[in-house]
Amino acid sequence: MNVDFDAGYEMTIHGRAVTADAHFEAFNPATEEVIAQVPDASRAQLNEAVASARKAFPAWSAQPLAERQRAVARIGDVIEENAEAFMRLLTREQGKARKGAEWEIGGSVIWCREIATQELPLHVVEATETRSVETRRVPLGVVGAITPWNFPLLLAIWKIAPALVAGNTMVLKPSPYTPLCTLKLGELLRDVLPAGVLNVVSGGNDLGAWLTQHPDVSKISFTGSTATGRKIMESASGNLKRITLELGGNDPAIVLPDVDVQQTAQTLFWAAFQNSAQFCVAAKRLYIHEDIYDELSAALADYAATVKVGDGSQQGTDLGPIQNKMQYEKVKDLLADSAAAGHHFLTGGVPEAGQGYFVPVTIVDNPPEDSRVVVEEAFGPVLPLLKFRDIDDVIDRANRTEYGLAASVWSRDTALARSIAERIEAGTVWINEIHSFSPHVAFGGHKQSGLGIENSLEGLAEYSNAQTIVTNNA
Ligand code: NAD
Repeated sequence: MNVDFDAGYEMTIHGRAVTADAHFEAFNPATEEVIAQVPDASRAQLNEAVASARKAFPAWSAQPLAERQRAVARIGDVIEENAEAFMRLLTREQGKARKGAEWEIGGSVIWCREIATQELPLHVVEATETRSVETRRVPLGVVGAITPWNFPLLLAIWKIAPALVAGNTMVLKPSPYTPLCTLKLGELLRDVLPAGVLNVVSGGNDLGAWLTQHPDVSKISFTGSTATGRKIMESASGNLKRITLELGGNDPAIVLPDVDVQQTAQTLFWAAFQNSAQFCVAAKRLYIHEDIYDELSAALADYAATVKVGDGSQQGTDLGPIQNKMQYEKVKDLLADSAAAGHHFLTGGVPEAGQGYFVPVTIVDNPPEDSRVVVEEAFGPVLPLLKFRDIDDVIDRANRTEYGLAASVWSRDTALARSIAERIEAGTVWINEIHSFSPHVAFGGHKQSGLGIENSLEGLAEYSNAQTIVTNNA
């Protein structure tokens, strides 16, 4: 299928292109130029999309698993065939640099192919001549998927692939800030999936709310902020929807004094600033042992000076802008608060006015533990460095947050690091590496970072109900 990635952004409802009476604008965050008019779905159109997914469900769920797996693997092929166009559009709408776009699009392909190998096993509890007890997994029905603006395509695939393999159909709503790649994916898949299996609708936050309230939607799979996650939990209660919530984080990284400082500095820099720190699992609070604090903070600042922030479409750019004006203003406000409190910036600071939502890489030198720049999820390139001496104390500080998404510990003494990791309240703790995700490894937040799991068989199972069948042959 020949798709023009530069124009014709339409929704996909029941396998057909659908526009809307109203439109909203999509911007390039590096230039602030309007790059597309995006359909703003009405409530009636959302209802049509849900009805279409519901209509498609019986046939899709009745297909042999191998057929559904093949279709999901094919989604990966289609993304790969259009990888270059996706990468260019992703940079234009999201702002990320080429390397980041390659990571996201390449990851989307891998996820489709790997999730397509997964299968939920039948659990035989008892099997005798006279009686059997088996628990099998059955699909839920229509899944409503809602995605954020930091990794618009990859995080959509994290939902599409398992939902469809498990036998569900879907209505997918991308963030209004980054709808374009997702709309193009819907367009490309009109030829790949039966009508109604994947509907893609675009609109604002209201559209998301309508989807979460809809009585014919059986599950909401959501990635976004904790504040929105709470609203979704509330509105999903109407028909007791299943929910998976992947929410915010304020991930600590704990660096012990025995690390190779120069080498670790570079890894930690990217742990914090990849995707301009618009990353749920970015290292957002860096706890450094006092013995190496000065050396490591200097190495981080030196490395920061070598990193180029700019338009993601320009060669040589390492980090792009903040994706949208709302978030840019939030990060600016956080930095202004930090500056007003007299914090010392090792590099960066409050951004100056100019074209594009650019924020300089900012490293804050040991601000107070209760300052906003430490307590709040910045979701922008602002990293507080925090000094510690005592392990019990640093674990206590690392856990002193409503979030519990991920964390990392850095030390040559892996036994000690492991003992620290086990005391951290987070869904993932990496030791001496970070951000190594896999379709086969469970990922999910503790505390207010979320509910449920994505990836792995546990994640796949969240797109199903358990059904136990007891047969008595006696
Ligand atoms: P957001 O919560 O503002 O929006 C996410 C999505 O929810 C958008 O599509 C939005 O239109 C929709 N939405 C907004 N209000 C809604 C409502 N009342 N009902 C239903 N849908 C609604 O989040 P964001 O700003 O796009 O994303 C950034 C946040 O996402 C950060 O907190 C980040 O940590 C988090 N995040 C988490 C993960 C994870 O896996 N845990 C991954 C990426 C991002």
